[in-house]
Amino acid sequence: MDGRYATVDELTLAHDRAYVDRVRAIVDAGGGHLDPDTVASAGSWDAATAAVGCALDAVDMAFDGRAKRSFCAVRPPGHHALRSRAMGFCLFGSVAIATHYARARHGIDRVLIVDWDVHHGNGTQALVEQEPSVRFVSMHQWPWYPGTGAAEDRGPHGTIWNVPLPPGLSAERYVGSFLGAVDAATRDWKPELVLVSAGYDSLAGDPLGGFTLELTDIDRLTREMVSRAESWCGGRLVASLEGGYVPDRLGQACVVTLEALAAGG
Ligand SMILES: [Zn+2]
Repeated sequence: MDGRYATVDELTLAHDRAYVDRVRAIVDAGGGHLDPDTVASAGSWDAATAAVGCALDAVDMAFDGRAKRSFCAVRPPGHHALRSRAMGFCLFGSVAIATHYARARHGIDRVLIVDWDVHHGNGTQALVEQEPSVRFVSMHQWPWYPGTGAAEDRGPHGTIWNVPLPPGLSAERYVGSFLGAVDAATRDWKPELVLVSAGYDSLAGDPLGGFTLELTDIDRLTREMVSRAESWCGGRLVASLEGGYVPDRLGQACVVTLEALAAGG
């Protein structure tokens, strides 16, 4: 379905108003660099607010019964965006905003965010770690961009599970480590909504990462999360695209994810 654009009020669920206004002003002026890696064009406001709006729509659909599982095929990604700064191709933290939106709009407390992009979801962590009823699991290459995400960094409330791993391990090691952290994060705690930062730069051959996942691993990760969401929270799961820099592989991975979401685990 068509998405909608997130409003400024929705963006400020996670970002400073002054930052949101600055992005708007740069876009209105025709674009420019927001950080060394992150360039805005004249179309970036619409693209970035649509990316967030899709995630918010998907959350609404999970709660009103229209679709308990969704995949948001959006760019730009969001998981590096900080409260008052763009970073790593990310303007607004879609998944973090969706987390705060779900809690405010749908009266829930407990949200689990999982992130299998090859890079640490530093923005997501920064934007949710103050909230004790939100848990975040991020698996990422280490040491690697953006340099955060050590295993000892559990956040101020112990609600962060970082899984830093070297490049070149077997895919089974990545999948097993990720699911092990998800299970540790949910051992005595059931989320009411699951959000997935679905980054496909964790696939073998991606120029921005050294992980070794194949499409079969993406299928498995998706199905494992679907099945867990069914047991925790009636299956409510929203996945949103993050990285992935081999276009053909990225497209295939999105299709695999959609098929696994459609199959229901
Ligand atoms: Zn990435």
